[in-house]
Amino acid sequence: MTWANSYLSNDGWTWDDTMNQSSKHADVRTVLVHELGHWLRLLHPNQCSGSVTSAEAAAVMTPDWTLKRTLGSDDKAAAAAIY
Ligand SMILES: [Zn+2]
Repeated sequence: MTWANSYLSNDGWTWDDTMNQSSKHADVRTVLVHELGHWLRLLHPNQCSGSVTSAEAAAVMTPDWTLKRTLGSDDKAAAAAIY
């Protein structure tokens, strides 16, 4: 990959420090850390296999509408496995 773009839509969304899908509030830091993970070719662990470990559940790459502002151990292990 030589470049990537991520767009944060403000179409009905409020970007603040909370995560609430129903009221369309999103924490910009959680979302950007997640999207930067995709730039690194990381996938959603919950979509890779039938079961999710506790480390995968805590990973910023598992989208579940909770605040996850830093990389978890599974995120780091996945990046290390790729690179
Ligand atoms: Zn994603």
